[in-house]
Amino acid sequence: MPIYEYSCQECGMRFELLRSFQDSDAGILCPECESARIERVLSAFSTGGCGGGAGAGRFT
Ligand SMILES: [Zn+2]
Repeated sequence: MPIYEYSCQECGMRFELLRSFQDSDAGILCPECESARIERVLSAFSTGGCGGGAGAGRFT
């Protein structure tokens, strides 16, 4: 399961969450101020669509 990094637009808090692909941005609240204004930050560890990862597991 991928780790997503999020940044709160209200207080600037940055935090990481393990999310499945289906509900990656659904219902996330800032753990600091409980704001729903959350923006996902793309980290270097995020798995993009390009570049076949050997042994990473394929979905189709
Ligand atoms: Zn916040």
